[in-house]
Amino acid sequence: MTELLFQTDSYLKEFDARIENVDTEGRAVLLNRTVFYPGGGGQLPDSGLLQIGEISYPVSRARKAPEGIWHILGGEDPLPAFGTDVHGEIDWDRRYKIMRTHTAMHILCGTIFRDYGAHVTGGDMELLKARMDFEFESLHKDLVQVIEDACNLEVANARDVRVKILPREEAFKIPDLIRTKINLLPPEIKDIRTVEIVGLDLQADGGTHVHNTSEVGHIRVPEYKSKGKINKRIYVEIG
Ligand SMILES: [Zn+2]
Repeated sequence: MTELLFQTDSYLKEFDARIENVDTEGRAVLLNRTVFYPGGGGQLPDSGLLQIGEISYPVSRARKAPEGIWHILGGEDPLPAFGTDVHGEIDWDRRYKIMRTHTAMHILCGTIFRDYGAHVTGGDMELLKARMDFEFESLHKDLVQVIEDACNLEVANARDVRVKILPREEAFKIPDLIRTKINLLPPEIKDIRTVEIVGLDLQADGGTHVHNTSEVGHIRVPEYKSKGKINKRIYVEIG
């Protein structure tokens, strides 16, 4: 299995690793460790490059598989061999935007749960743009500005964002996590990674986040859409 370096340090930009498998048809390499986020949990995968000897291979994306993380190589150069040492680097400008966007989503759902008791049912993110779905019957258009202001107050509050990896039994005792349905995680997952915006939000989450809400920048809530009487979709943009 690939060691997921981004799980304990989301600010790592570069790493050294070794090729553990090569997929010639898919033009991809499996590494023993990586800082490339493979996508999932609503978060976009990273891109970047792998330096192997004299050759710099563009990595268009990483992909998660049961055996580890595959890195899809662009260019025309011949594929490297099993066992080769590589130096990897992610597109940090893009990743940092993704981190700010992901933390903004947690600010939004933490604020909405605290102020209205509304639960999240889904979400999707792009660079500096996201949408989240809520069971939020009482949402109406005058609330949009109130929600935007409440989110920006949490950015101004400069709350720390803490990541922990807990044994499953311990995580199951935390009431906030039960609310976010960790009991639906498959039993073979023994450790639960949690992301806490201190004083605002706590979730089981595998994504990469900024260290402090002040790094997110201005959050705009341009609109929402009704997806029925109860279900509402809220859009955010990060300035
Ligand atoms: Zn998340």
